[in-house]
Amino acid sequence: MTTLLYDTTLRDGTQGEGVNLSVEDKLRIAHRLDEFGMHYIEGGWPGSNPKDAEFFARARTLRFKHAKLAAFGSTRKANVRVEHDPQIRLLLDAATPVVTLVAKTSTLHVRHVLETTLEENLKMIGDSIAFFKQHGREVIHDAEHFFDGFKLDKDYALATLRAARDAGADWLVLCDTNGGTMPWEVEEIVRCATAELREDARTNEYGQPGVRFGIHTHNDAGVGVANALAAVRAGCTQVQGTINGIGERVGNCDLVTTLANLKLKMNDDCVSDEQLRNLTELSRYVFEIANLTPDIRHPYVGQAAFAHKGGIHVAAILKVEESYQHIDPARVGNHKRVLVSELSGRGNIAYKAREFGLNPDSAEVQQVLQRIKEMESRGFFFEGADASVELMLRRVQPGYARLFELLDYMVVVEHRDGRGVLAEATVKIRVDDEITHTAAEGDGPVNALDLATRKALLPHYPKLKKMRLVDYKVRIIDSDKATGATTRVTIDSTNGHRTWTTVGSSTNIVDASWQALADSMEYALLVA
Ligand SMILES: [Zn+2]
Repeated sequence: MTTLLYDTTLRDGTQGEGVNLSVEDKLRIAHRLDEFGMHYIEGGWPGSNPKDAEFFARARTLRFKHAKLAAFGSTRKANVRVEHDPQIRLLLDAATPVVTLVAKTSTLHVRHVLETTLEENLKMIGDSIAFFKQHGREVIHDAEHFFDGFKLDKDYALATLRAARDAGADWLVLCDTNGGTMPWEVEEIVRCATAELREDARTNEYGQPGVRFGIHTHNDAGVGVANALAAVRAGCTQVQGTINGIGERVGNCDLVTTLANLKLKMNDDCVSDEQLRNLTELSRYVFEIANLTPDIRHPYVGQAAFAHKGGIHVAAILKVEESYQHIDPARVGNHKRVLVSELSGRGNIAYKAREFGLNPDSAEVQQVLQRIKEMESRGFFFEGADASVELMLRRVQPGYARLFELLDYMVVVEHRDGRGVLAEATVKIRVDDEITHTAAEGDGPVNALDLATRKALLPHYPKLKKMRLVDYKVRIIDSDKATGATTRVTIDSTNGHRTWTTVGSSTNIVDASWQALADSMEYALLVA
């Protein structure tokens, strides 16, 4: 079985709150989706905004290795000739091999939203599909509100599908537009629709009889992925969704989770084993370009998806790797993590030490363990801050040499009349035997410190250019001490490929930030 993957990140995904992609971003994502192995990439709605029209104009120069590009639009307006509808013209001008046409299937929407007759709606579907078939396009009929429409008036909902099929549509894609349908309803309704429509004897390019079916779901009831899988079980051979499930309201069907489930749980050849190994990177890439924080609890690809904390679990995976994992994380390009905290103690550090080829019983490792315990009592919290723990273990390895050493820093924060608050930092750093003295201004003390440190290190380590901070969290630990309290700073950084977390703790927020920042930079140079 091969389910075809239809990605709509660039159209439906951009409807999501906080998602704003430039044309450049969209072209980069399209390229990446093609490299990954998507079968269809929907680029946008050329008739709805100039940005999407520009995307299609520029997309003409893209050479996809694998994917077919689709342009999205709606059926012609009521009571106009299809060739005179400006939106249809723009869709044709997008010059894509695939055209996806959204149409009404529910009597409620035809009568009260579209405000036309049921008859005219069927003609709008037929005319529009026939028009694009005459122009040699592969046509995907997007049956909006199909499941709700089916429940309201089954005969009419099926009549809209027949109109699409008879006009030559290649695909009938059933949409749960409002995202409120349950998986068992999806399965039953898809079975019914496919049985009703398949009497037609046409064979498609895959040699299967009749028109093919697809599924497009939304996650409003938290079952977007489950609904897509239920539809595949019932006979759909195309799944539509977005990377990371981004989209309107709570989002679309998450194609990342869906395709991993299809491949690993349903034995579907939607992607190859090799393509699947790029899944985590694809997910992070789209989060990155969309400027969204990755969800650590994202199934399969999240940072916490294979993280082990409890002492018993860690002891067990030391013996049998798969004892507390549903799959081998490497299959989706993710990796197992052991979270270090005083709760689980020795076993976890022993596990980490072994990863670096250190003997867990050695004096050095025992020393690190002691240090972690002592630091945790001072307000450090290593859980999740893998990079800081890893650095502590690396520093006790024989042959370890410091890449840089901070000698001094000074940060000044000033309020100046008319210019607001300014921060300036100076740092003195030693690399090998060379001492560099730099200064920089920033939005705040940590930003200034970050910029001054980079200035000193970049000539020695150009690799640092790629690293940037993605998140900066501050927590006051013993808040009863008010302004004298200990502050913990956690920093997440990335180089575009991987993300890591470091921690610092001090009664001074700038000092705590410096510790986390210095660890992050050292990690970027040593490991990432
Ligand atoms: Zn949608």
